[in-house]
Amino acid sequence: MARIVQKFGGTSVVDMEHIRNAALRAKAEHDSGNEVVVVVSAMSGVTNRLVDYVTSAGELCDDSEYDTVVSSGEQITSGLMALTLQGMGIPARSWLSWQIPIETDAAHGKARIRRIVVDELEKRLGDGEVVVVAGFQGVSPENRITTLGRGGSDTSAVALAAALRAERCDIYTDVDGVYTCDPRVVASARKLDKITYEEMLEMASLGSKVLQTRSVEMAMNHNVCLQVRSSFDESPGTLIIDEDTIVEKEVISGIAYSRDEAKITLVKVPDRPGVAASIFGPLADANINVDMIVQNVSDDGTSTDLTFTVARDDLDRAKAVLEERQGKLAYAQLVPDSNVAKISVIGVGMRSRVGVAQQMFCTLAENGINIQVISTSEIKVSVLIEEKFTEQALRSLHTAYDLDAP
Ligand code: ADP
Ligand code: ASP
Ligand code: MG
Repeated sequence: MARIVQKFGGTSVVDMEHIRNAALRAKAEHDSGNEVVVVVSAMSGVTNRLVDYVTSAGELCDDSEYDTVVSSGEQITSGLMALTLQGMGIPARSWLSWQIPIETDAAHGKARIRRIVVDELEKRLGDGEVVVVAGFQGVSPENRITTLGRGGSDTSAVALAAALRAERCDIYTDVDGVYTCDPRVVASARKLDKITYEEMLEMASLGSKVLQTRSVEMAMNHNVCLQVRSSFDESPGTLIIDEDTIVEKEVISGIAYSRDEAKITLVKVPDRPGVAASIFGPLADANINVDMIVQNVSDDGTSTDLTFTVARDDLDRAKAVLEERQGKLAYAQLVPDSNVAKISVIGVGMRSRVGVAQQMFCTLAENGINIQVISTSEIKVSVLIEEKFTEQALRSLHTAYDLDAP
């Protein structure tokens, strides 16, 4: 007997037919004697609609009410899933975050899970009941509903798997695994049998939305055996595993992209100690995350240009913060640009192989694509390019690194 968490994403519960199909997977595990926790997302498109409602309600005076509205899609699917299982003769019960509870901090819209009280769930599982949990939601110390950020049901599932010490956490979605690149953009993308936690973490944080970044981080920290697979067919999925268990390490495992970027260039910033701190300090205070940074060498020893990127949603706020301080920062001009995309190549094999970045730069050059900013870490190289070249860059890099499906 094993304890298994199954998470069904929005496209896997989009209507009653899909919910029945998902319920059959839970039933199959239950019939073979396993303890089953089902985590559900909202029906595909519902969360977007709920966000639109909140936006149309006007200024967000109280962000906890955002979560009250936006978390509601998962309430519907958890009830429907429990009802469907009951209709199949399986004892099942739905659980909202506050009923468990799944305790989070109070960062509404992007809350982090602090603790899950598992006693009642363990008892129910022991009694043979299928536990159906509404994903994406938690409850704050002030006893308000929170949400875990878009895509957060993945994190609900992994957190439950960790807290309940489940043998496996299966993420059911509309693709049959993690691919070398988003298969909807690069048709020749290849499915990976396995990928390391570290690579998956980079892929997710650099834009591959197949798993929420936080869920991978949590799986890595708690050693959760995580699998991404299709809810539409029986093909084997992708296992996310420890690097030590992979013998043959790929140089490049995948390519990710993100259009959620914006670039800011500050022209003629004074070239003296403390300037970077006086620019990035106020941005951090405003909770604006800065990603890539380049500072040019100053020609004349007096001023230099500084370019960096922020999330596209934060561009207006970042501009406001810097413009307010223009007098003190003494830059000549602020040039915003949201017409950019970040392309990243990722692979643990990069650690022991030279020339990976060079191959990326050559391939982009051959395609006439200009690189605006570069950043690297031990296992990834990222470049910022003009947004219109996104697909061309992905496809040509995919071929250059020999990732195309045979
Ligand atoms: P769900 O609603 O099941 O959570 P998501 O839309 O969040 O599904 O995630 C699945 C989608 O992730 C796929 O449809 C695919 O377009 C996208 N995706 C992006 N990068 C990758 C990748 N490297 N491998 C597989 N899917 C990817
Ligand atoms: N329904 C939420 C969203 O669309 C959470 C999830 O699907 O994981 O972001
Ligand atoms: Mg998702």
